Amino acid sequence: MDNLLKMIFPPRCPACREPMEDDGSYIHPECEKAFKLITEPRCFKCGRHMEEAEKALCPECESKTHMYSYGFPLFEYNDTAQKAMIDYKKNGWKRNGEYFASEIVKHLSGQIKRMKPEVLVPVPITKKRLGERGFNQSEYLAIKIGEKLGIPVEPGLLKRTGAAVQQKKLSGTARKENTDYGIECTSDNVSYRRICIIDDVYTTGGTINACASALMEAGAVETGFVTAFAVYLS
Ligand SMILES: [Zn+2]
Ligand SMILES: [Zn+2]
Repeated sequence: MDNLLKMIFPPRCPACREPMEDDGSYIHPECEKAFKLITEPRCFKCGRHMEEAEKALCPECESKTHMYSYGFPLFEYNDTAQKAMIDYKKNGWKRNGEYFASEIVKHLSGQIKRMKPEVLVPVPITKKRLGERGFNQSEYLAIKIGEKLGIPVEPGLLKRTGAAVQQKKLSGTARKENTDYGIECTSDNVSYRRICIIDDVYTTGGTINACASALMEAGAVETGFVTAFAVYLS
């Protein structure tokens, strides 16, 4: 059955989309360069590449308070990345997710281990999206990363309400962030102190910040994030 499936749906290269040899590799060696690693020096918080090595924070992180302590996006969100993400999320090419997860482990395992996360928590998607896609792309990444690094994954710790959340327990910044993004922690009292949030693409940081704030409202002490890609809008 497996072989038949492979004949009908051969694994494809996440970059050029051509079929792969059946040798277990995720990407053609010559296609690896199509995904661009975000290089050092990086902003200490959001992980964006910075021109000046002397500064710890980018202007965005200097002016805004983020609830997370630090984060590490892996690749730039270029055209190849965009296509590979469509194949992954909308066309169900889960091998693309496996490739991203294995690259995250290859390049960022040191950074992840230094965070000492007790658990990986994927950014939740709405029920509607889950229905359309059949899976949460960030959860799949988290599971694959967790398997390789031996860190447990808690996909149910956050949920997407898609609507304004109960506000009476929240205060200040946390209230605003959570409401804007409809992110809710399913526990009032999480037992994890350090949590690494996993997402596919970092954009404004708003969603990840809302996740971090919900987890910290519920008792987490420190949060960081890892994403496969980042596109910085400002
Ligand atoms: Zn290729
Ligand atoms: Zn930054």
